[in-house]
Amino acid sequence: MDTQPADSAVDADGEGGDGLDAEVRERRREALSRVRTFGDPVLKSAASPVGEFDEALAGDVERMISIMQDALGVGLAATQLGLMRRLLVLQPGPDATPSAVVNPELEWASEELAVAEEGCLSLPGIVVDVERSVHARVRGLDVHGQPMLLEASGLEARVLQHEIDHLDGVLTLDRTDREQRRAALRALREGETFSPEDLAEPATSEA
Ligand SMILES: [Zn+2]
Repeated sequence: MDTQPADSAVDADGEGGDGLDAEVRERRREALSRVRTFGDPVLKSAASPVGEFDEALAGDVERMISIMQDALGVGLAATQLGLMRRLLVLQPGPDATPSAVVNPELEWASEELAVAEEGCLSLPGIVVDVERSVHARVRGLDVHGQPMLLEASGLEARVLQHEIDHLDGVLTLDRTDREQRRAALRALREGETFSPEDLAEPATSEA
């Protein structure tokens, strides 16, 4: 998942695109070039459970964390790299420790919901409102196959739900309202950016 506003990269301190130095921007561009984007069928496909906890898995996790960090993302699902395995990484905030969850299961999600804007590394330039549970409990395995339990709230809970959706072939576009979905699809088709604020602007007249 991406917390960057449409097409203008923001650094960890929330500065505008100009706050990123050229090296950081170049690393982000390189990382994003490895992430599958909208239209790629892998993003609509469900991943299969991981069965082997070997060096290859550890290598995939390492690579995913480095791509997520270079892309300035807060989470990444294996399917976004074309790896059809149930594996996600997250780092919900610059001070958070990056972690990986293998075969994650959303065991419980609160009835308390919140709407927030979500970007996605696979939907460059697109931000839509998504309603999610504020609290979530996720069970899974670590990279060694040991059971882990995450009790998450706020951004961490949101990132987990977003990435688990990816493993089921579900995108933010499937979770937002019809109007935003339609406008976002149009923007993707035309290579433009979209955020909910775009809909708040008064309609342009034909004149
Ligand atoms: Zn995403």
